Amino acid sequence: MGLRFASLGSGSKGNGTLVASGDHCLLVDCGFTIKETERRMARLGMSPADLTAILVTHEHSDHLSGVAPLARRYSLPVYLTPGTLRARDIGKLPQIHLIEGHQPFTVADILVTPVAVPHDAREAAQFVFRSCGSSLGLLTDLGTVTPHVEAHFGDCDALVLEANHDPQMLAQGPYPPSLKRRVGGAYGHLSNQQAAGFLQRVGYEHLQHLVVAHISEKNNTLELARVAMAEMVESVENCIFACQKEGFDWLTVEARG
Ligand SMILES: [Zn+2]
Ligand SMILES: [Zn+2]
Repeated sequence: MGLRFASLGSGSKGNGTLVASGDHCLLVDCGFTIKETERRMARLGMSPADLTAILVTHEHSDHLSGVAPLARRYSLPVYLTPGTLRARDIGKLPQIHLIEGHQPFTVADILVTPVAVPHDAREAAQFVFRSCGSSLGLLTDLGTVTPHVEAHFGDCDALVLEANHDPQMLAQGPYPPSLKRRVGGAYGHLSNQQAAGFLQRVGYEHLQHLVVAHISEKNNTLELARVAMAEMVESVENCIFACQKEGFDWLTVEARG
């Protein structure tokens, strides 16, 4: 069996992604209360007691707010960059593993490659996971797709990719001008078109799963994201759209033949 992954929820109100291989399961980010995390994990047949570790991508509350309480309650080790650790008062963590720059590391039998992304956080890292001959990339919360990002995420077997906003909806939407600039800027979030452009450049025919994620509830619609991704929806074996309320159910990445 290859890598499996599922989501507790995806968007600016809270994120959490499960990545599992064999008996081990990692939680990437936690933007939910303990109770809400337990509830959302139960829906996926899991409890936080089943977790091996928590990994953190960056310090924004939709990714971090639930990390320390959950880690303390269930005595879980937390992996994060030094920049993320020092960015704000995270709260006491029972066990800290610092991620060193671009250095891949293993948790149980999962090889994790951290990839630096342009985002308005101290030391944001997104991750590529490899196990059992298959790979999964989690790529959200970035304002620009750099050549470095393309090199690491271009050939993953499965991809969770941000399509945060529609530029026109963002421009005409309710956010104050400074927030509009931040979200749409080089250190903000990927638009539908940026996400589609990235896939066009690196190719998407090889993907087993494409999960379009971190879709804004204010500055985007499922319909607009679908239109921007029309070619991918057509050609990728399984293309789905993650939501804030439900995330998405377990998906398995088969080993590359
Ligand atoms: Zn976010
Ligand atoms: Zn963020």
